Parts: sequence; structure tokens; C-alpha cells
Amino acid sequence: MQRLDKQFIANQWVPSHSTRTLPVINPYTETAITEVTAGDAKDVDAAVVAARRALPGWQALTGEQRAVYLDGFAQSLTARREELIRLSSTNNGKALAEAGIDLDDAIACYRYYAEQARKLDSRQGQPVELDMVGVEARCYFDPVGVVGLITPWNFPLVTSAWKLAPALAAGCTAVLKPSEVTPLPEQALAEIALEVGLPEGVFNLLHGDGEGIGAPLSQHRGIDKVSFTGSNRVGEAVMRAAADGSRNISLELGGKSPIIVMDDADVEEAADHVMAGIYFNAGQICSATSRLIVHEAVADALYAALGQRIDSLVLGDPLDEATTQGPMTSARQKEAVEHYLSIADQEGLTAVRDARDRPLPQQGYFVAPTLYRDVPVDSRLWREEIFGPVLCGRSVSSEQDTIALANDSDYGLAATVVSGDPARAKRIGRQLQAGSIWYNSEQLVLPQTAWGGFKRSGIGRELGPWGLASYQEIKHIIGPAN
Ligand code: NAD
Repeated sequence: MQRLDKQFIANQWVPSHSTRTLPVINPYTETAITEVTAGDAKDVDAAVVAARRALPGWQALTGEQRAVYLDGFAQSLTARREELIRLSSTNNGKALAEAGIDLDDAIACYRYYAEQARKLDSRQGQPVELDMVGVEARCYFDPVGVVGLITPWNFPLVTSAWKLAPALAAGCTAVLKPSEVTPLPEQALAEIALEVGLPEGVFNLLHGDGEGIGAPLSQHRGIDKVSFTGSNRVGEAVMRAAADGSRNISLELGGKSPIIVMDDADVEEAADHVMAGIYFNAGQICSATSRLIVHEAVADALYAALGQRIDSLVLGDPLDEATTQGPMTSARQKEAVEHYLSIADQEGLTAVRDARDRPLPQQGYFVAPTLYRDVPVDSRLWREEIFGPVLCGRSVSSEQDTIALANDSDYGLAATVVSGDPARAKRIGRQLQAGSIWYNSEQLVLPQTAWGGFKRSGIGRELGPWGLASYQEIKHIIGPAN
């Protein structure tokens, strides 16, 4: 396996200034795949200098010209799809089918922003409708500048695509720091940058942890904007760092999203949506629908259907096609989830299925799927993001209580509504406080629709035209009409 002992700066692989290294672990074998450099602040300085030097040239290109490179990213990812799926499964532990969905999401994102870059040319300099005679105003979209992009480990290549593709489309130059837990898939982006002939310094990749790279990158005064995806704890540190110099940020943070099953729902269909919303990626999804709010009329039938489905999940080697749930991505995440299971014991929660009753594969950081019912609203498991295969359910008896309970959360990233009446599901959806509301479906993420949350789930939006706008400064040129 390749060594990740170099940083990618100005289209060169250069040694890190740091001598510190970190092991990269395969969460199924629990052994080191390779080592990654931990990087340091001097690496950040060098990457920011390269990105700043590249900015005028990259910004001066037309959207059409930048689109060619973005299409190149999509093509190269497509050509390497099978290899990258296996790499992602090996490094992250996700089942192959799930890694395939990730790759397709990333490819669609680069294609979408290639198209957005093309459209940008005709949007530049459009006249603004005014009610003042003899005055002209025209609108332009300039890039924000040099951007720092920091991503987590749960969706390699996806969370970086949602940042890098719109940033490059807008004319920004970038320094990307992937998670030190899953650095292998993102390494491909640097190789692809060389393959597609991206001008030097437009994209720089720095390996390292929060201390070595993340903090210096978010504190760097040469960075005009930081776009961060990860935990609230670190997101708040990034926000504090950006206050120094009044710099721009976007934050994609945690969630505790509800899935609502109404009394008119088809129970079998609802059970499928519930399963996919929480047990996909071993529950390590920011938008996991981890709070089940079920009408009391269908609760017993739904719990029975969920129990059967949980029993049929296949825990095993992520590279085995038969596997439907891989291990947790790290020993640390496994411990974090197990800690919540012990809190559940202390709280006396009622388990429909308990992780500890199920035999686990001989190796790997597995936590078996767990389902609690009738969970009190003040339970820590009901209120806090667990980031694992743990679903908490609660019954309700009216539509009004359902909506109030769904909105009673510090977070507001996503929600799902399952009802036999789509109009009713949409009407309920309008009253929920979350960025993405799915009805009679689950986790439908599309490059055209915005991603981001209400309340503590973040600041700003990714994807869609809003994702592009988050890397743009809006400028008006105003004067006498001629
Ligand atoms: P994390 O916050 O621990 O790490 C995220 C990234 O920040 C990593 O690259 C890490 O190295 C870096 N980092 C750590 N300390 C830093 C510092 N002081 N300054 C700057 N960067 C630093 O999160 P994680 O454990 O990798 O990911 C899990 C979290 O991410 C969950 O809370 C999940 O909900 C959230 N998430 C949100 C979304 C979304 O779109 N809203 C998507 C995926 C994950």
C-alpha cells in the first residue's frame, strides 16, 4: 500500500516539515494499512502561498474553462471507480455497495458544478432591475479567494467533493485537509489534479490531524474562508479561529434527525425507510434518522418488522458482497457508541434489539445494530448524536405532538416522514425545522438540492446553486446608464 508521507503542494509531492506520523487503520482487520504524515503549520504556510499565487490565473479563466477541469475530475473518478470503492471500503469499513453510492455521489457533484461553472459566464454582468431612471447596476460573482476545506471520515470523497467542486467552479483555489482517519481515498484527488493538468497551486492536499493541520489552517490569515464538516466541538473552534480577521466560514455539523411514521403508513415500507435511515454506514451518517417517532396505532407492528430486518443484517468483511454492515470506522468510534449503550443500561431503556446479544465477527470494530423503544425525551440517547447503529423510538398519538417532538432537538439537519398520504407527509414536512425533509423515501441526496441544517447542525448550505454561492462574493457595479 502506498505511503502517505508527502504533501501535495503546487502540483508537487513534497516532504512534510513534520516528522510525526499516524497509522492508517483498516477497521476490519484492526491492523495498519500504512502511515500518514501528521503535517504541521509550515506545511500549511507553503500550501497557502501556493494557493494564493495560483488565485489570479485561476480566477481569470472563464467558467467554461474551469468546467473542463471539473469534468476531468468526474471522468477520472469514473475511470477509477472500482479501485476507489475498494479503497474506501478498506479504509472506512463501509460495505462495498455503500462505497459505490458514495463514488457516484462524488462524480455527480463534479459534473453538476462543471455545469454550474459554464452557466456562471452568462450570469456575469447581468443588469439589475431598478426603479431609478438613468442609473444602471450590473451584478458579478467573484470568488471568495483561497479556501481551506476540512472534512471528516464518514463519507470519503463525498464531503470533499461537496466543497472542492463548487470552490473550483467559483474560481477559488483550495487547500484540502481530509480526515487523518481516512486519508487514502482523498489522495486520489491529487493524482487526478495532475492527470487533468490542473494549474499548479489551484488544489493542494495536506495530510495531518486537527492539531498539526486543521487548527493552523483555520487560523491562517492567508485563508479567506474555511468550509468545515465535522463535529460541533471542532466546528465551534473553527468558528472562533475565523473571528480573528473576520473571515468567512461554512459549517456542516452534527444531527439528531427524526423519522416520523404516521398511522396511515404501510408498516413494511416504513420499516425499510427506517432501516436505511439509521443502519446505513453503520449509523455513521450526519443525517441519520436516529429518532423514530411512530404513531401508537402502528408502533408494535413497526417494532416487530424492524426486529426482523435487524436480524437479517449481515455484519462482516466490508469487501464481501454479502456484507450489509461493516465495522465502525475506528476503535474510538466503537468505544464512543458502546459508551452510549452503557448509558442506556443506566437509564433503564427498553431494547427491542441489543447489540450485546448478537455474536460479532471474530475481528473488526463492530457494534451490532440496536433498537430502543419508548425512550424518554430526557434520555441522553434521545437527545445526543451517537453516530452509530443505535435507533431510539418513541410513540405519539397525534399529528401535533409528532411535529412538536420532531422539532424538540438542538439539531435540524434532516427528517423523514412516512405516510400513506403524500400530501399529508408534505404538509407535516413544511412544519419541520430541518434542511432536508424526505417523504416516503430516505436519505435522497441530490447535487441540485441544498445540504445543511437549522440550529446547531451548521451554518450555510452546500450543494445546488447555494453551494456555489458560498464560495462567491457578490459585486455590483453601479453608475449612470449610458
Ligand atoms: P471531527 O470534528 O473530529 O473532525 C473533522 C475534521 O476536523 C477532521 O479532518 C479533523 O482532523 C479536523 N480537526 C480536528 N480538530 C481540529 C481543529 N482543532 N481545527 C480544525 N480542524 C480540526 O469530526 P469527525 O469525527 O471526523 O466526524 C464526525 C462528525 O462529523 C459528526 O458530528 C457528524 O455529524 C459530522 N458530519 C456532518 C456532516 C454534515 O454534512 N452536516 C457530514 C459528515 C459528518
